[in-house]
Amino acid sequence: MKIEVLRIGQRLVRDDRVTTHVALVSRAFGASKILMYDANPEIKDTISKVNRMWGSDFQVEIIEEWKKVLKSKKSDSYKIVHLTMYGENISSVEAGLRSEERILVVVGAEKVPREVYDFADYNVAIGNQPHSEISALAILLDRILDGKQFQKKHSNAQREIIPTKKGKRVMNKATRSVDAR
Ligand code: SAM
Repeated sequence: MKIEVLRIGQRLVRDDRVTTHVALVSRAFGASKILMYDANPEIKDTISKVNRMWGSDFQVEIIEEWKKVLKSKKSDSYKIVHLTMYGENISSVEAGLRSEERILVVVGAEKVPREVYDFADYNVAIGNQPHSEISALAILLDRILDGKQFQKKHSNAQREIIPTKKGKRVMNKATRSVDAR
């Protein structure tokens, strides 16, 4: 399954920290790309560095017009999944979402225009209380991918963590040496 993420908002606040976290969660939880606008270009560099060190070819695309992106993704047979606390409960739609081949997840930064609700194939609530796009995205991706995203190893990583009960163990993949702290 291919999953991409689009971050929108009526008046997108330049909140670089949240935007970076939305991108990091997208990458770590199994999406292949994030599309966003009005974002600090440094976020792209941050993600490139993470890709280089820890692997994956997760992409960041800076877009101009999110409405055009929504339409073109839909005509490219993506299902539009809008995360909103007003939507249908994730537990009642997750089986349907798992059967899709291509998904574009839309998360808001501020108030999301009504037309997105109408255009979406699924309006999905991670509970009906307001919280954050970071948490909503993480839970949605985990429900769709059912934890399998955490088994994935990246062949192009420079470093790989060796999980340990205490401390930190990191393997340098080029030399196969393990740095323990
Ligand atoms: N009142 C805003 C609204 O109109 O949705 C809340 C904005 S919230 C700070 C930013 C984004 O987090 C929302 O656009 C939505 O994508 C996501 N979000 C927040 N709570 C959610 C929930 N319970 N379920 C799904 N998504 C949620």
